[in-house]
Amino acid sequence: IHRELCNLNEIINNMVPLLEADGLMANRYIKTCLADIPALLIDQKEIRQLLLNLVRNGMEATQAGGTVTIRTYFEENDIVLAVKDEGYGITPEIVDKIGTPFFTTKEQGTGLGLAVCYSIAQRHNAMIKYDTSPAGTTFFVAFHAAGQDC
Ligand code: ADP
Ligand code: MG
Repeated sequence: IHRELCNLNEIINNMVPLLEADGLMANRYIKTCLADIPALLIDQKEIRQLLLNLVRNGMEATQAGGTVTIRTYFEENDIVLAVKDEGYGITPEIVDKIGTPFFTTKEQGTGLGLAVCYSIAQRHNAMIKYDTSPAGTTFFVAFHAAGQDC
């Protein structure tokens, strides 16, 4: 892990063209809503991977014409990265299984995307949570804003 002070918003903005290109082929859209947040000690490569995995899952869950929204904001002492989709939600039967390596419900899935996200989050002392309903899912990654150890 190679941590540097960098701003999540910058990482997101740099990735949007790639994510949009990904989505446009399948007719999914990307929206961003980024708050003014300070830089964090993070591994840029890993955070790009985390974002890519969450946005891809969001797009894969969302119907054609739908949007995946990426947000950043402050909450208490955390800086939160949220990825919201307009998908079908995560059903109760699989809640215990997602994030387990190789668990997938997709024909072409690897089942590694979320497992990688969880380990990246762990290396950053960040917490991943999600909210889900049949109208969509939001994944939240909360980073400590202060007192990050190098
Ligand atoms: P993969 O995308 O290759 O299936 P992941 O680890 O990224 O592997 O995701 C594992 C499973 O978790 C998916 O197959 C899917 O069932 C579920 N999942 C993940 N993200 C979402 C989401 N945003 N909406 C609905 N289901 C999801
Ligand atoms: Mg995936």
